Amino acid sequence: MRNIEHFINGKLVTGSSGRHGDVFDPNTGKVQARVALANAAELDLAVQSAAAAQPAWAAVNPQRRARVMMEFVRLLEAHKEELSALLASEHGKVLSDAHGDVQRGLEVIEFVCGIPQLQKGEYTQGAGPHIDVYTAYQPLGVVAGVTPFNFPAMIPMWMFGPAIATGNAFILKPSDRDPSTSLRLAELMLEAGLPPGILNVVNGDKEVVDAIVAHPQIKAVSFVGSSDVAQAVYAAGASHGKRMQCMGGAKNHGIVMPDADLDQVVADLMGAAYGSAGERCMALPVVVPVGEATANALRAKLLPAIKALKVGLSGDPGAHYGPLVTAAHKARIEGYIQLGVDEGAELVIDGRGLKIPGHEAGFFLAPTLFDHVTAKMKTYREEIFGPVLQIVRAESFEEALALPSRHQYGNGVSIFTRNGDAAREFADRVEVGMVGINVPIPVPVSYHGFGGWKRSGFADLNQYGMDSVRFFTRTKIITQRWPRDGEEVQSSFVIPTM
Ligand code: NAD
Repeated sequence: MRNIEHFINGKLVTGSSGRHGDVFDPNTGKVQARVALANAAELDLAVQSAAAAQPAWAAVNPQRRARVMMEFVRLLEAHKEELSALLASEHGKVLSDAHGDVQRGLEVIEFVCGIPQLQKGEYTQGAGPHIDVYTAYQPLGVVAGVTPFNFPAMIPMWMFGPAIATGNAFILKPSDRDPSTSLRLAELMLEAGLPPGILNVVNGDKEVVDAIVAHPQIKAVSFVGSSDVAQAVYAAGASHGKRMQCMGGAKNHGIVMPDADLDQVVADLMGAAYGSAGERCMALPVVVPVGEATANALRAKLLPAIKALKVGLSGDPGAHYGPLVTAAHKARIEGYIQLGVDEGAELVIDGRGLKIPGHEAGFFLAPTLFDHVTAKMKTYREEIFGPVLQIVRAESFEEALALPSRHQYGNGVSIFTRNGDAAREFADRVEVGMVGINVPIPVPVSYHGFGGWKRSGFADLNQYGMDSVRFFTRTKIITQRWPRDGEEVQSSFVIPTM
């Protein structure tokens, strides 16, 4: 059995805690590797190596730090197939989608190649007599990131890219369900010229996350995962005086106005609801047609499109999506499907019971569709995170606008319409962090930023974009005065004013 270890101070390090987790092949349902689960002592080893290496890295001029990132981009391009296959083998997403996972992370690395410009401070000459003021954005020191299973390449890069480019050392704790990609990314960063100790990967579960949040030398923690954990990690980190950003779960709605192009909407919904088996925080699992006629027409067009979807092995180029990540996750989603029936929603297409010949034990679930879902239902209020699309019928624009606005999650939302006024009104008033107008998955580009509202994001600053540069640096404001020779020396007892 293959063992997945830690990466500390530029080397693979065997776990010593005696605890391991199973990593599955979701296509076969079999355990393919054992991942070491670190304890606080192993974390401390990584923190000490990071703390020792960080001052010299922070002293490297930003142009040279950027060059390491540029070389890393080149290596990511060269290893894209390998990285995609590696992450697909543990996650279960199809290869074309795995390419996107790597590419999206790469784009954040491209963004931080501009770190000499992005981290540049501000300067005011002559703020007072012989006085100049300047602002410096200094790295925090040792910082950490805790990532979810669903984007094993992209989300680690969202975090360590900006953290390292700004001069910090980073401890990455990837998901224990698909940890191998993080180790490979760390090796490639070393190959790109990063000094040992600046990027460490410590595998583990709650035990090591608790240790990260409490470790006195870790100054900031970036977390992405489910909301209950995000909120608990946020609170614990804040109680230790750390800077925290904790992104949580989602339940994104797609509002379909009566004037929308329904063929386009259905085409968009297939990828947004069922792509990656719905295991995306920017998936679109709730569609809200406005008006009875829109709902009936949409449903009629959805049925054949859903039936034409192909679920297959993650390596099958003809498959639209692959298996779910684990048997436990599959069982959880099946539980929600049963709950939807029990709550009185109409189960229009039931995806349970799918078997792929030769891979009967794989974690496959066919696309599922519910109609007549209401806002009171638990299956609506909670995140399912699987290939399940729910139709919630609304009578008016106002009713449709209220649904995502009142939902506990506020990650993404989309409106499909040909009416610019309605779209503008919706974007202005909806209480959600990322809005799409005729865009089903409104994931912002790398030079903007990523973050939801309400229980989707316990954070003041978003992932990537300029917010990430601010998150991983602290601002120092220097007021300097160089008196002229012979200037009169005198005390002042009033607060300096301009
Ligand atoms: P998860 O919350 O189970 O795990 C996330 C991370 O936290 C993992 O590294 C895990 O090992 C660790 N963890 C798990 N339980 C913990 C605990 N009790 N205490 C401390 N750490 C713990 O999430 P997941 O199942 O890996 O990922 C799916 C979730 O992530 C979904 O809810 C999805 O919406 C969310 N997500 C959010 C975003 C976003 O940016 N908002 C992006 C991707 C995924």
